[in-house]
Amino acid sequence: MDIILFLAHSEEDGALGQPAREALGAAVELSQALRGTLVAAVYGATVQPAADAIANCGASRFLAVAGEDFASARYATNAAACEALIRAAQATIVITAATSRSSRITAGVTLRVGGCVDTHVTGIAADSGSVTLTRWFYRQRIEASLTRTQRPWVLLLDPSAHAAWQGESGSVTPEPIAVPVSESMRRTTVRGTITPPADQQTIRPDAKLLFVAGAGWTKKQKDGQTHVPEAETIIVDFLKKSKASLGSSKSLVEMSGENQSALRFMSHLNQVGQTGATPRHPKGLSACCHGEEPHTVGWRFIGERRAINLDPNCGWARGKADVLYVADAFEVMSKVNALLGS
Ligand SMILES: Cc1cc2nc3c(=O)[nH]c(=O)nc-3n(C[C@H](O)[C@H](O)[C@H](O)COP(=O)(O)OP(=O)(O)OC[C@H]3O[C@@H](n4cnc5c(N)ncnc54)[C@H](O)[C@@H]3O)c2cc1C
Repeated sequence: MDIILFLAHSEEDGALGQPAREALGAAVELSQALRGTLVAAVYGATVQPAADAIANCGASRFLAVAGEDFASARYATNAAACEALIRAAQATIVITAATSRSSRITAGVTLRVGGCVDTHVTGIAADSGSVTLTRWFYRQRIEASLTRTQRPWVLLLDPSAHAAWQGESGSVTPEPIAVPVSESMRRTTVRGTITPPADQQTIRPDAKLLFVAGAGWTKKQKDGQTHVPEAETIIVDFLKKSKASLGSSKSLVEMSGENQSALRFMSHLNQVGQTGATPRHPKGLSACCHGEEPHTVGWRFIGERRAINLDPNCGWARGKADVLYVADAFEVMSKVNALLGS
């Protein structure tokens, strides 16, 4: 019988993050489909809030590695914790969220336990006892279904690919799993984290809205002039107020490389599309972007798509958007900012 291990690290406050809850949702579904045994394991400085939050998930065992040694994203101690948890659970399938912390260690941990690992998993299904995962290849153009016989099989589930587990919290005392930590494992110390202020961090995977800016923001407008500083102000103001994540078309991000007048906060990391990112957000709003196929292919995981363009025959009008506003984005977004207030 399969033993499905849900493996997660706790957050700073000891709770579970959203990606971990999604991985738990997938693990619960898989264990039910396989009629297997579900085991939940958490590691981190403090794990009790996380364990209590998932006390009613149906796991037959709750395992934990807790302590200051496991507080930060340090490879040596985190990998040792995960290896110990997988061995203690005798897991055949391990489901863990592809956070940056777990993604760095999972391949190494899998090697130590003699298993195999698959990354960027977007779906996990069980059919007549056989487990199949889905993931995308070649810039999201080919979707593959994979199955493997080697065990343990470790699956890194991409965030936002599965519904999060929803259930009542409760109270559970996890079994502590001992992990010897030598001095050499403590050689790396995390002295702190530096993150850009919220208004400079434009890529926000958890945002409800993706706002995509296109090259039109930098083009000559009806007065025959460009209005790049004004475009910057409008976009930054909207991002601050809406907390949307910022995407871009390829043309716009490439302008800065060609020394053309472009939006200063835009980088290649913002690019959405065939040669860019394929973000996942419930809603998307595009402004001043033409909506060509190589761009819109990056919108395939966006729930509701809207676009603002002066051109009624732009790509968005050809089945790429649910709603197209044929309007001047400078005017529309200024009004939206005014409505959103200060
Ligand atoms: C192999 C390959 C890979 C590619 N990969 C990508 C990719 O990953 N991502 C990507 O984005 N592109 C990609 N492209 C490029 C893509 O085909 C387009 O060239 C690009 O998306 C165009 O960017 P744009 O729509 O911002 O600019 P433009 O085509 O210049 O469109 C600007 C739009 O702004 C509108 N506009 C101007 N002023 C206003 C205003 N005031 N209000 C409202 N609308 C206004 C105009 O009507 C126009 O439709 C790729 C191309 C190739 C060949």
